[in-house]
Amino acid sequence: SLLVNDLLALFLNTPKIDFPGSSPCCETFTGTAHWSEDYLDCGGTKQSPVNVDAAQAIFSPDLRPIQLSGYSLPANKLLKLKNNGHTVVLELPESLALTGGYAQQYRAVQLHLHWGSPSGPGSEHTVNGRRFAAEIHVVHYNTKYDSFTEAMVHPDGLAVLGAFLEVGHGENQYYHEIIKHLPEIQEVGQETLVPGFNIAGLLPANLKFYFHYNGSLTTPPCYQTVKWTIFNQTMLLSHRQVCQGNELLAGSLPASPCNWYRCPVPVICSSCGSQRRDGCHCILTVLLPDVNAGFKPEE
Ligand SMILES: [Zn+2]
Repeated sequence: SLLVNDLLALFLNTPKIDFPGSSPCCETFTGTAHWSEDYLDCGGTKQSPVNVDAAQAIFSPDLRPIQLSGYSLPANKLLKLKNNGHTVVLELPESLALTGGYAQQYRAVQLHLHWGSPSGPGSEHTVNGRRFAAEIHVVHYNTKYDSFTEAMVHPDGLAVLGAFLEVGHGENQYYHEIIKHLPEIQEVGQETLVPGFNIAGLLPANLKFYFHYNGSLTTPPCYQTVKWTIFNQTMLLSHRQVCQGNELLAGSLPASPCNWYRCPVPVICSSCGSQRRDGCHCILTVLLPDVNAGFKPEE
């Protein structure tokens, strides 16, 4: 529809950073092509990430703004930040929760970042084929299960909030709270403690506009149990901050010509007449009357 196109035009008119030649070799990321040999789900039909083809997204008037609860943490609440060899993971206390936008309640367990490399951008999801500098994932599990581990095998088990990071002007103060600790965890397996801050600041201020689909974990075991929300508003970091993130991976991982993301998995069917149709990524989106208030990079 025209509205969807308008919305996407706004989304895509955000500042771009030019990377020399986007690497086509992401499938060599720990042999993603072979994951399904050991993990059946990795060869499934609802895998993530995907390329969001905006023209194929279905308008859903039922989508509600995502509501965060308990995301503002006091500085005396210390959070564990770890280099796991692929990325940095910040453990989150269970007091953080999603209280709106999903049909059920989810509590946070961790967030992590998918950085690029000096040779290219590193977001996992793409929009109309465009890859962004980096991507944040805030991982939650359904409160009806006792733990993340129990939840992750159930179809309604996990909810992940995703947002794209781009290079803008000036430092992002919220990302600074994480990035300033990266020198302490240069080696794989190293961890450090980060004083609490307002975690919501790592996500867009506007939580009303997003794409939503049912997908999977993007690494083995690739369970198809993730309800994804990908926000349209992007986060702006300084060039230096993005480079610091990229360098963490470059410094701690084996030398590789590739970027460390999984290639978007093809969307199996091009049109999804019903949201409930199986074997298909039905990507939903939302339009609200004040759409022009959104779709701008966060300042
Ligand atoms: Zn992720």
